[in-house]
Amino acid sequence: MQREFPNEAAARKWFESIIRPDGKWPFLQCRSKNTHECSYAKMPYRCRDCRKYFSIKKETVMAGSPLPLLKWVYAIYLDTTSLKGVASMKLSRELGITQ
Ligand SMILES: [Zn+2]
Repeated sequence: MQREFPNEAAARKWFESIIRPDGKWPFLQCRSKNTHECSYAKMPYRCRDCRKYFSIKKETVMAGSPLPLLKWVYAIYLDTTSLKGVASMKLSRELGITQ
């Protein structure tokens, strides 16, 4: 995990490769693919059609979460590599977050 995801940027690239494998970003709210990257750290994408800024977390289970993407990657890893999933208490202990 440390080698594959050394920092937040690596985690963001991984999510981007899943959500927009063709390099185009479908902004789900207005269905436009007329988007571009901008320099805001928290909202690094902008839809040119509706002029809204959004992040990689938009319209995913991560929406509204203040947790960094790196913690989400680790939580997904723990959940998908466990036969019966992972308990929320174990997740909170492993990630150093509240339940
Ligand atoms: Zn839009």
